[in-house]
Amino acid sequence: GVAHVSATTAPSAVSRPTMAMERSYIMIKPDGVQRGLVGKIITRFEERGYKLAGLKLKQADEALLKKHYKDLVDKPFFPKLLAYMISGPVVCMAWEGKDVVAMGRKMLGETNPLASAPGTIRGDFCLEVWRNICHGSDSVENADKEIALWFGEAEVVDHESAMQDWIYE
Ligand code: ADP
Repeated sequence: GVAHVSATTAPSAVSRPTMAMERSYIMIKPDGVQRGLVGKIITRFEERGYKLAGLKLKQADEALLKKHYKDLVDKPFFPKLLAYMISGPVVCMAWEGKDVVAMGRKMLGETNPLASAPGTIRGDFCLEVWRNICHGSDSVENADKEIALWFGEAEVVDHESAMQDWIYE
């Protein structure tokens, strides 16, 4: 066979310390999937310069959602939230890059779409807090927990992005 030739040598082969990159758990909720917004939402994170580390479609169940929303389980609206979140499959994503947790929240917009600026995902694609399209981790600590909850270890992949040297100093 043909010998494998590595094409991974970057234009600037200057060695530099590996950046400690954070990850965020971003989830497209059942309404976002049913409305065909998966591609648009993925594109926004790709175009910003973030790197996909995990991606899958999943039908969530009550037990999983009770862990994910453990701080909301006692709220009066929790049964309605549960019904919404199990009404169809969700798209689970782990996105990696500089400040992706805080930036992800900015890109999503506010919990209430009315408070979300145009240009954000919620500010562009939805009208109701009950059908607000997407979830994003609110802290690095919660992001790590949520990624571990929604993904198996082998489903989150460490890999080099060919664009990295053009996005980061
Ligand atoms: P976020 O998703 O913006 O982090 P929360 O974690 O507070 O917001 O709430 C989780 C989800 O529960 C929201 O995205 C929304 O779908 C729903 N939700 C939260 N608060 C309310 C509310 N007051 N009325 C209706 N739905 C709510």
